[in-house]
Amino acid sequence: MELKYTRKNVYKEADGKELEAIYGYAEGYKKFLDNAKTERDACVTAEKLAIEKGYKPFSFSEKLKAGDKRYFINRHKNIFLIKVGTEDVAKHGVRIMVAHVDSPRLDLKPNPVFEDSGLCYFKTHYYGGIKKYQWLSIPLALHGVVMTPNGKRVEVCVGEDENDPVFCITDILPHLGSEQAAKPLGKAIDGESLNAVIGGLPEVGGEEGKEEEKEAVKAAILKLLNKKYGLTEVDFQCSELCFVPAGKARDVGFDSALISSYGHDDKVCAYPEMTAIFDSENSPHTLVAVFADKEEIGSVGTTGMQSWVISDVIDTIAHSFGANPIEVRYNSKCISADVTAGYDPAFPSVFEKRNTTFLHCGAAVSKYTGARGKSNTNDAPAEYAGWIRDIFDNNGVYWQTGELGAVDAGGGGTVAMYIANLGIDTIDVGVPVLSMHAPYELISKADVYSLYKACLAFCK
Ligand code: MN
Ligand code: MN
Repeated sequence: MELKYTRKNVYKEADGKELEAIYGYAEGYKKFLDNAKTERDACVTAEKLAIEKGYKPFSFSEKLKAGDKRYFINRHKNIFLIKVGTEDVAKHGVRIMVAHVDSPRLDLKPNPVFEDSGLCYFKTHYYGGIKKYQWLSIPLALHGVVMTPNGKRVEVCVGEDENDPVFCITDILPHLGSEQAAKPLGKAIDGESLNAVIGGLPEVGGEEGKEEEKEAVKAAILKLLNKKYGLTEVDFQCSELCFVPAGKARDVGFDSALISSYGHDDKVCAYPEMTAIFDSENSPHTLVAVFADKEEIGSVGTTGMQSWVISDVIDTIAHSFGANPIEVRYNSKCISADVTAGYDPAFPSVFEKRNTTFLHCGAAVSKYTGARGKSNTNDAPAEYAGWIRDIFDNNGVYWQTGELGAVDAGGGGTVAMYIANLGIDTIDVGVPVLSMHAPYELISKADVYSLYKACLAFCK
């Protein structure tokens, strides 16, 4: 028995076989990242994989039975994977894993198109917590849907294929940037200046008059969009389009020990919970894996975790077995799978080293998150934290614990408190991330694999 606690580095502990498994798992994860940049993309990708695994569409009026595998897509942006077990749901509840698949980005405004000085732009309204300066002068891709009249749904994805054009927001040159450089970082870039260049070729042979008056570039772009997607300018008012960083997930380091990508928060947890439910076919438990939407803006709306939909899914499972849904919820257990801030040696002052997670040290368990004296958090009961610890330790899961930064340095929340509100024991388990919410975030391959093993242990 070890009296002293020491955090273990997974890479140091791993043998050749384990290392191979870690690097192998990362390949699948990178592929998933590239096909799940937005919550809509994540749902489409998860649906495809679920169908391959024999999952069938779910219905609220269906009577489920042991062995059933179902998927439910809630309004294109939130997916539930359900695997019904043999165990009594009233007595043992359901084992739930929730990660979110929305990530900070730049949404288009309802009237996004304008022209200025020979350039055509889309105006944006940022979504989630971003450092605005990070989104200038990087290649951006456009993802989403537009509704054209009479219910026609048009999907858009431009900038991901290497032959596609990309979009970009310009920044001032350093030669003229002294005024900007003197401003505090948070105020240097105005939200209204986050306009992305979308074109520069004017329509030729149009009406007489000055180029600017005719908005010849805008006219040409609208014509092009109409030809390609059948949309007109007013259709943007019924759309969900956003700019995300263009390009793919990449290995980082000579040893490829890490991965840089857009949207690790929170696909680095969504992928492990999904692969864990897929790999737990023989589990006696009824398992539910959820990809949630809107976490970055407060888990609101029909597709966020404050919605009743998750409760409705659990009720449907309960009713299938004639069980009392209240009892099922009360006996259920949940892992709120979300990222936390890993210790960054470049910024030591915002961390408290003893109570921070470190890269390569395994799945990150956080009993609570929140800010200002643990406000706005699920503070998991010690008994439940102990139950999770035993499950992880008995299954060889590398895990660590930490808070998101030092006391009063800031803070953050997850969906955990909304699941706990339903009377379900919930604890945060995730992956430490560096440069969280930046266009390219950094994680360790050892940690995403550790979270997969943690989810597997929870499903077993
Ligand atoms: Mn998150
Ligand atoms: Mn986040």
